[in-house]
Amino acid sequence: MLPRIFHSKPSTLFVLVVSLVILALSFLPSTTLLPRLRLLTSHFTLRPISTAATTVNNTTNMASYAQELNIALLAVQRATLLTKSVFHSHAKGTLSKNDASPVTIGDFGAQALIIAALQHAFPQDAIVAEEEAKDLRENESLRDLVWDLVQNAKLADSSAEETLGGPIKSPAEMLDIIDKGDSAGGSSGRIWAIDPIDGTKGFLRGGQYAVCLGLMVDGDVKVGVLGLPNLPESDSEPLVEGIGAEQTDAAGKGVLISAVQGQGAASRPLGKGALAEGHSIQMKPLENVSEATFCESVEAGHSSQGDAADIARKLGITKPSVRMDSQAKYGSIARGAGDLYLRLPVKKDYVEKIWDHAAGDLIVREAGGEVTDVEGKRLDFGQGRTLKNNKGVIAAPKSVHAQVIEAVKSVLGSK
Ligand code: AMP
Ligand code: MG
Repeated sequence: MLPRIFHSKPSTLFVLVVSLVILALSFLPSTTLLPRLRLLTSHFTLRPISTAATTVNNTTNMASYAQELNIALLAVQRATLLTKSVFHSHAKGTLSKNDASPVTIGDFGAQALIIAALQHAFPQDAIVAEEEAKDLRENESLRDLVWDLVQNAKLADSSAEETLGGPIKSPAEMLDIIDKGDSAGGSSGRIWAIDPIDGTKGFLRGGQYAVCLGLMVDGDVKVGVLGLPNLPESDSEPLVEGIGAEQTDAAGKGVLISAVQGQGAASRPLGKGALAEGHSIQMKPLENVSEATFCESVEAGHSSQGDAADIARKLGITKPSVRMDSQAKYGSIARGAGDLYLRLPVKKDYVEKIWDHAAGDLIVREAGGEVTDVEGKRLDFGQGRTLKNNKGVIAAPKSVHAQVIEAVKSVLGSK
């Protein structure tokens, strides 16, 4: 007679055998020739379900960056509200800079507000920001316009406003604060990267723009926040050409998209006071790259639209590209509204700026994507104010990124 156990169902037998093997392996010393098998068994041990954040913190002792995220979200929210008020009050005092990009009073005002908040919370941190106060120092009426805006930009929640350190005290202090964004960047220490209005042309034409803030520690982006006042609140609204154009102050518009390294990416409605509740976002699973929706710059001078069309053709993509200004492209693919972001160099000698990519790079990677340059190298934020080790940007879900890079290399290599 066989023992009773051998009369059990095959599945019971299987569970018993696997359990015995696991038990036996767990007694093996760590110096055994089978460390890989022990590792394998550890994947089958039952663990309590926990959030991504606690898992990461418990296992690798990684800093949580909770305070940094909170300050960054509130600072970006306040600055984004300022930019909206500039747009609606039609006070778009534009200047021309050497590189011919329009600069608005919103740029200066948003930068002043963000730096003031960072200096209050993290006075030791270095800051790399796009603007400098020189033009304001030389132009009193412009300075007064900016000062007027900055004074009136307050969150409608006194405790949130207090967290950010309250108002800037004088026009002179405002100019000094703007100039605090002059760090040379680099690969050591804590450095914030700010683009007060990314996509200035989008802002002026009433399309997409972004207020961008990223924290790098030793050249690695740890926290990223994008204020996107003209994107729909809903993550699932499909990306279409002209999205965000003809903006109004209607409800349902405006999001804050953020990420912390190792803790995933999140989206929340852009509010006016305390932060709204956030929810986690992920890139859309993409089985077949030919079904992708890809985003690119509106400005043909910022990204080669001809090369993008050739790459799309190579990948079998038939949907037309969605052209939008700013890091709204990163935010849109991170929440699954689109799939790919292609930024293909137009001028050989152009070097990308860290403030144009720091927040978006982390947000897409934390949402399940891969972000590299056109050669497949990770963006290197430790090289100063620019990404001088990289050319262009290719952001895609992990599952298809290598395939996209292959198509990029084949199209760019054949030129
Ligand atoms: P986008 O809205 O994606 O077209 O990007 C806007 C950003 O492009 C601006 O913030 C500029 O810093 C940057 N930019 C300016 N000139 C160039 C260029 N020739 N190639 C790539 N990016 C550029
Ligand atoms: Mg920019």
